[in-house]
Amino acid sequence: MQRKPLIAGNWKMHLTIQEAVALAKKVAASSQGLEDREVMIAPAATALAAVAEAVRTSPVVIAGQNVAWKEQGAYTGEISPLMLKDAGAKMAIIGHSERRHIFGEDNGMINQRLIGALTHGIIPILCIGETLDEREEGLTWEVLREQVRGGLEGVSGEQAADVVLAYEPVWAIGTGKTASREQAQEAHQFIRGLIEELYQKKLAEQMRILYGGSVKPDNVDDLMRMPDVDGALVGGAALEADSFDRIIHFS
Ligand code: PEP
Repeated sequence: MQRKPLIAGNWKMHLTIQEAVALAKKVAASSQGLEDREVMIAPAATALAAVAEAVRTSPVVIAGQNVAWKEQGAYTGEISPLMLKDAGAKMAIIGHSERRHIFGEDNGMINQRLIGALTHGIIPILCIGETLDEREEGLTWEVLREQVRGGLEGVSGEQAADVVLAYEPVWAIGTGKTASREQAQEAHQFIRGLIEELYQKKLAEQMRILYGGSVKPDNVDDLMRMPDVDGALVGGAALEADSFDRIIHFS
């Protein structure tokens, strides 16, 4: 089963509009002509429309860093799926560990966001991953099971076919500690098994599962060699054109 690798950059709360457009143009240049992989960037909301315009003639896809479940209304601070589309985004990161752990988003809210995205044709990247304490207490599989089941609650097989998953062990995000390729493979294989339990083998084989957590130019090739690692969600190293270029061009 061929799954097209996806390299996704999460710019988090960084870059002015001008800086974001300059970096986006470099990413667009790096991505020209790449047909065997997809490249996505998620700028801050303020820069979404300008970045989408800057990469319009390139294969780079734009994503929101989160998405609301309502189309409009009294939801101060939120961005609706319609607004994301209006700004040029085709994907949205949902359930990032910073949303879960700093802003208290739980599986129920993340599930609503995911359904909101799917309803409006936005491809969700559902992030899951255990904390260091959970791993040390032997709770990794239980946590991943809860996050996958909770995030996909009420999502039909047809809808789930559009979902991308990202395994991001919280202890590896922004810490410089990467999961070993064996740890990543073990978790990705487990997650694919959960999708098979929830849906069907065919869907599980089609679903892309990205790895995230201190992916850098010097570890991306090793991670991407693992059979169930279908791409990377990259934070820090996506903010620098040369390192992201090297990651996009993993071998
Ligand atoms: C992330 O923000 O999703 C992430 C993986 O960050 P970093 O690559 O900096 O660990």
